[in-house]
Amino acid sequence: MAFPQSAKYLVIGAGIHGLSTSLHLAKKLKASGQGSGEDIVILDKTGIAAGASGIACGVVRNNYFQPAMRELMAHSVQHWEANADAFQYNPVGYLQISSESMHDDVAQIHREQQAIGYESDFIEGTADCDAYMKNIFSDWRAQNITSVLHEKKGGYAHNAAAIYALAKMAEEEGVRILSGVTVTGLKFANGASSAVTGVETDKGTVACEYLIVGAGPWVRDFWTMAELPETVTIKGQDGSQHDNIPMWKYWQLEEGVLRVDPESFKTNDGKLPPVVHVDTDAPLISDVDGSVITEEMWGIYYKPDFNFGGIQGGAMPYKVDKPASEVAIDPYGPSSPEFVSSQEFAHMWVSALAHCNERFSGTMPKYHKEPSGGVGCFTPDSFPVFDVFRENCYIIADSNHGYKMIGVGELVAQEILGETSSLLQPFRFSRYAEGKLHPVSNSPYPWS
Ligand SMILES: Cc1cc2nc3c(=O)[nH]c(=O)nc-3n(C[C@H](O)[C@H](O)[C@H](O)COP(=O)(O)OP(=O)(O)OC[C@H]3O[C@@H](n4cnc5c(N)ncnc54)[C@H](O)[C@@H]3O)c2cc1C
Repeated sequence: MAFPQSAKYLVIGAGIHGLSTSLHLAKKLKASGQGSGEDIVILDKTGIAAGASGIACGVVRNNYFQPAMRELMAHSVQHWEANADAFQYNPVGYLQISSESMHDDVAQIHREQQAIGYESDFIEGTADCDAYMKNIFSDWRAQNITSVLHEKKGGYAHNAAAIYALAKMAEEEGVRILSGVTVTGLKFANGASSAVTGVETDKGTVACEYLIVGAGPWVRDFWTMAELPETVTIKGQDGSQHDNIPMWKYWQLEEGVLRVDPESFKTNDGKLPPVVHVDTDAPLISDVDGSVITEEMWGIYYKPDFNFGGIQGGAMPYKVDKPASEVAIDPYGPSSPEFVSSQEFAHMWVSALAHCNERFSGTMPKYHKEPSGGVGCFTPDSFPVFDVFRENCYIIADSNHGYKMIGVGELVAQEILGETSSLLQPFRFSRYAEGKLHPVSNSPYPWS
């Protein structure tokens, strides 16, 4: 097929957002008689699932302190459930297990989950939490735990398989996905309009009526191409102005795999367990040499994963200590010479696994030594920006929350066709200037 000279709807990125938006836009165009998937072209410089979506841990949770995030996640969980087989989605649930400093925040999350009908149990107090966890895993032994939030929905999906399934569904609607095409610049209208009229690529120019950017960690580059501001002014909760805040920052996600049989991490009654997420201030002692790794708050998450071939999970990310413009995103993920999980991560994570479940004690030699992890691009408040710029350019900047957000594409498609989504409203760019910020929790993560 010839390289297209134009597309009514041009989408950048064959990751979760570009594909989900294209699929739902195609369906909505057809249903409304306004067009079809044949009006949509996706360009990706590498291919389907080549970005963050293809290396994500795949965890789907609702556990957010911010009400707007929770409502959005509840919507996306419906999408995961609706196509669980195709997405290889495991609806095993999710456990947020915390020490006292997070108790009040998590209690509030539980209350608000009840209010929106998102099923979860909340267990409080050291003894009750210990008993609850031992009822799931007989070898449970994590310390300083005073609350357990057990979300009955959520779980995890096979990362790349779900993205390939979305691509297949989009192609069945007539969407064209072009791999190996790098977008190098945007073209704008002259005169009164500032709209995008097309993109320049290494294969030629493609004109468009509407541009959708789902470029994951590369959103920084499209922001620059669209000539949007490198810094923002944020109105704080107290009304004070904070000027010159960089629009983007990068964090390194540290994840890894312990190569033990995934079958060895099941519940006492032989079922696949919920995703386990522990945040605690208990001293973390090395399972290798007995040294103190940290006496500060630490956090890990893990699950048995047949796709990764072991126990897969991660720990707190760290901030990349460079201006966003200087961060080398390519080569991305495990191919990066700079941003892969460290030996210190492996030591910390496996020791933390052993702190929680005795069965993992002595397993350090089984840590899979292949490179893993990748960088994520975060907004000033670390929450997504879903908004239209230059009249016809929808930017989906999920601030690295996004694998679980498989339903956002449906809402973006709805907005492109003129119907505002109340679920996306709290994520407009204008919130920084207006001071309409999301509440901040006591979690050690930049995304909870
Ligand atoms: C290690 C890791 C683990 C994670 N785990 C989870 C998790 O468990 N749960 C969760 O919800 N989220 C997780 N995330 C976050 C999640 O993966 C991302 O938020 C999400 O995948 C972003 O999707 P996307 O479609 O925006 O971008 P991507 O999946 O990154 O896709 C962007 C695409 O754009 C293409 N592209 C970039 N630049 C250009 C260009 N110039 N021209 C053409 N194409 C271009 C790329 O090739 C890429 O395929 C994790 C992230 C990382 C790094």
